[in-house]
Amino acid sequence: MLQFHNTLTGKKEEFKPIKPGLVGMYHCGPTVYNYPHIGNLRPYVFADILRRGCELAGLKVTQVINITDFGHLTDDADAGEDKMTSALKREGKALTLEAMRELADKYTKYYVENIQQMNIRLPDVMPLASEHIKEDVELIKVLDEKGFIYQTSDGLYFDTSKDPDYGKLSPKMVTAQEAESSKSRIGANPEKKNQRDFAVWKFNNAIGFQSKWGQGFPGWHIECSAMSMRYLGETFDIHTGGIDHIPVHHNNEIAQAESATGKPLAHYWLHVAHVIINSEKMSKSLGNFLTLQNLIDQGIEPLTYRYWLLGAHYSTQMNLTIDSLKAAQTGYKKLLKFFSEITEGNEATKLDENFLNKFKEYIFDDLDTPKAIALLWDMTRDNNIDNATKKAMALEFDKVLGLGLGSIVKTELSEIPQNILNLVSQREIARKNKDWKTSDKIRDEISKLGYQLTDTEQGPVVLK
Ligand code: AMP
Ligand code: ZN
Repeated sequence: MLQFHNTLTGKKEEFKPIKPGLVGMYHCGPTVYNYPHIGNLRPYVFADILRRGCELAGLKVTQVINITDFGHLTDDADAGEDKMTSALKREGKALTLEAMRELADKYTKYYVENIQQMNIRLPDVMPLASEHIKEDVELIKVLDEKGFIYQTSDGLYFDTSKDPDYGKLSPKMVTAQEAESSKSRIGANPEKKNQRDFAVWKFNNAIGFQSKWGQGFPGWHIECSAMSMRYLGETFDIHTGGIDHIPVHHNNEIAQAESATGKPLAHYWLHVAHVIINSEKMSKSLGNFLTLQNLIDQGIEPLTYRYWLLGAHYSTQMNLTIDSLKAAQTGYKKLLKFFSEITEGNEATKLDENFLNKFKEYIFDDLDTPKAIALLWDMTRDNNIDNATKKAMALEFDKVLGLGLGSIVKTELSEIPQNILNLVSQREIARKNKDWKTSDKIRDEISKLGYQLTDTEQGPVVLK
């Protein structure tokens, strides 16, 4: 039985898909105004594990991760400037939609590269917010007709007092926020009827899209409501994001979508805890972030970071230190080495039912990756199962963990050095992503270092 902790009910619940055998999931995507930091990658490693976990349960997944290429303000609510507009200014670019497109494409490319390096499978759909203005406008019109919208001098706002269920994802957080904002009116927008009301369309004379209300941008929240419903239907199975999305972004997505359709937007809401550094959330605004390239420069591989993340449950906050990543790398390499040294066995090797059932039990229990990884280690030490079975099991576990455990087959001729094994792993990821150019480049590099790589049905074989 597949179970998830549902933020909406505050409980761990059995997962029941809307349509038997199928699951639709939407993950709030990155705002592409800068390089992603490694904290930003955690929600997508989680989304990938969620997808693979559902597949292990025999479900066919439709996965959507959007790209927020405008509309996300520097403050999650309505204050501040559009992050993309301020990025254009930061980079000395013209304030035009074309320049914004270029900027978005540049950082989307980095994001996609990063998720590929982390062995995160690309989703089925990656919609751009800028290509769904029509859907946003349609949704705003419906809300307007139903009396949920009012206009101020800077935009169109959703009137939360008209929605009796407003804030249902986190009623306590919403009450606390209100108490806070009534204490301090600094920065409050006097034109809003209620400070928790939020913009569905913001006017902007300098740059923006045309609408019957005036030039501007849809709000970040309406973009996600509109894109998720466009690809998954008015009610879908699972919606996820970082925990920072709970109080504002997700409550607002729910309010708009459900007020318009009269139906629940998603049945299960799952949230990922943060990566912190020196007791503070890693974030671009605090300037305390590391990128994946920063890790690589320090000798820490992207898949080590994936392994490190999987060592904690997704709902646990993780404190990042370079030392903890180095320790994770030692463990991860040991695992790679263990499985790469197993030469016996082939695809037909039997699986061990006990280990497989335990693995499923852990993954189906709200994606308990720390227990799944501990089980993998237990298996390496278990004398009751032979090496060929261990290797076959590692490949099976890896369909969910995605650690590249099966990508290396060592030859009997000599010990293959770790740097070559790393290159082979990287090439396998490139091949999985059908990135043939990178794959050929890595093969040439391996060849220059004196090793010959052959692809076989069991995986790549390396010869000195
Ligand atoms: P953004 O690109 O700012 O829209 O953020 C993309 C994702 O990263 C969102 O789901 C955020 O919740 C998440 N996020 C931001 N900072 C962190 C962090 N330090 N740790 C984990 N997730 C984060
Ligand atoms: Zn969203």
